[in-house]
Amino acid sequence: MENNKYNDDNSARTAGGKPQDFIRTIIAEDLKSGKHKQVITRFPPEPNGFLHIGHAKSICLNFGIAGEFNSVCHLRFDDTNPGKESTDYVEAIKNDVHWLGFDWGEHLFYASDYFDKLYGYAVQLIKLGKAYVCHLNADEIREQRGTLTEPGQESPYRDRSVAENLVLFEQMKHGELAEGSCVLRAKIDMTSPNILMRDPVIYRILKTSHHRTGDKWCIYPMYDFTHCLSDMMEGITHSLCTLEFENNRPLYDWVLDALNTPCHPQQIEFARLNINYAIMSKRKLLQLVDEGYVSGWNDPRMLTISGLRRRGYTPLSIRNFCEVIGIGKRASWIDMGVLENAVRDDLNEHAPRVMGVLKPLKVVITNYPDDKMEEVTAQNHPKIPEMGTRKVPFGRELYIEATDFMEDPPKKFFRLGPGREVRLRYAYFITCHDVIKDQNGEVIEIHCTYDPETSGGNAPDGRKVKGTIHWVSARHAVQAEIRLYDRLFTVEHPDMDKEKDFKEFLNPHSLEILQQCMLEPSLKDAGTDDRFQFERQGYFYLDKEESRSDHPVFNRIATLRDTWAKIARKK
Ligand code: ATP
Ligand code: MG
Repeated sequence: MENNKYNDDNSARTAGGKPQDFIRTIIAEDLKSGKHKQVITRFPPEPNGFLHIGHAKSICLNFGIAGEFNSVCHLRFDDTNPGKESTDYVEAIKNDVHWLGFDWGEHLFYASDYFDKLYGYAVQLIKLGKAYVCHLNADEIREQRGTLTEPGQESPYRDRSVAENLVLFEQMKHGELAEGSCVLRAKIDMTSPNILMRDPVIYRILKTSHHRTGDKWCIYPMYDFTHCLSDMMEGITHSLCTLEFENNRPLYDWVLDALNTPCHPQQIEFARLNINYAIMSKRKLLQLVDEGYVSGWNDPRMLTISGLRRRGYTPLSIRNFCEVIGIGKRASWIDMGVLENAVRDDLNEHAPRVMGVLKPLKVVITNYPDDKMEEVTAQNHPKIPEMGTRKVPFGRELYIEATDFMEDPPKKFFRLGPGREVRLRYAYFITCHDVIKDQNGEVIEIHCTYDPETSGGNAPDGRKVKGTIHWVSARHAVQAEIRLYDRLFTVEHPDMDKEKDFKEFLNPHSLEILQQCMLEPSLKDAGTDDRFQFERQGYFYLDKEESRSDHPVFNRIATLRDTWAKIARKK
């Protein structure tokens, strides 16, 4: 079978031209005005789970900009939460970014590499009188923070001396103080209308080993303190993040201004990706994995990068999807069909066509000699002759799709029924003359005759048939397991119901496993990177985890059409 590996092309191209959005406009202007000579962006995942399609949007933006503006994008692990992070997640994330087609080159960073420097900056803040050690516990801090309409109260520890703060912070660092007994807080403004500015916690005691620094530290910096300083130390010019960080921006700026840092990256927010019938939170995805609702992070129903990869999505289709949805400021929902269309569009162009029968029904061609076998010529792609042809064996016994036969068909059913004639794709016209049933009355086999004059699927007398169906020679068929997928959730917004847990909306029919599917023999040599269109059935991809050499398992990547759109139209 022709190799279609080029789908995994890692050149980071997309189908469209150069993308345009408000962030790229800002960057182009900053380069033009000379504000920056070179742009540096970063993708900053926390290694506490696998990446999902939402992250792909951020990756395509940050690394995409680097490619378009001849600049650099850093991959930085934001690893300040040791209890939830691991090197396995780090490796999975690196693998996913690479697979998507992006490369950070030598620009791989970890916030944990900055722990010494971050500690130093915290000491500097204390010396400037802008940070203090506070002994209120988490509940007390929350209670004293105030609300949107009421100012907060100042901590009784707010005005302790610099010297005392330095001693206490050092004790925190040396593990002399118990976890939860105190924190370091920035001294900003307890009356600020922005609650995040009301003396936020910037360091806490966590006596937990870190996957990279081991037991060296028992205090860890908080996100808001770490992120801006990491950006600054790396010389990031544009720190792109999702809209929910808009309120964190004043704090981001405050830390850098308070320390009077030589570089001050500009934080710009854009709308995060939301897709209907799916969830996009790592915490909830982890629940599905941990509680066994899915087979793992890479379950083909999950919108994780690894799930989409296992299902058969191509990197190009995901990059194209990110380009189509674009970058904006307004929060919005993207229809799942847009993602499915992206992979259909890519595969429609590239995937070789083959025949595979998902729910087989045996056909015996009674006037075809038992010992005869011939090969018919089939096209690998209807629109790309360069993809060539292949030989498909044809014999007396075949399988067709059970749904292509009806014992008592209505008039508009153009496939097989008693006395009816159809075309077998690339082969002959056949007419059904007998139906064999088991003792329960189920049809188990049908008997047909073929017209030897219709070789290649055309009748010399010009007679027409309305239906053309696919088939596989029984003697040569490759038996396979096929997994059909549907959306993981039954409602558009599974995690927005205030009364119900999102798991209550899991779709019980999201996975259908078909055993004993019959595929044409060319699929015996299916390479692990080949994606196929099974004619009339959709696009399929070999499941690398579940397949054995004597038991191939194929995932359906997508149906041929957006069946959901069809259902919506019918309503
Ligand atoms: P989650 O909400 O799934 O837990 P997160 O934001 O905590 O994700 P991070 O690892 O911190 O996960 O994310 C890394 C980067 O990816 C951040 O810059 C974040 O803004 C971006 N990102 C995360 N989710 C989305 C999304 N749905 N759309 C666009 N960007 C996203
Ligand atoms: Mg985050």
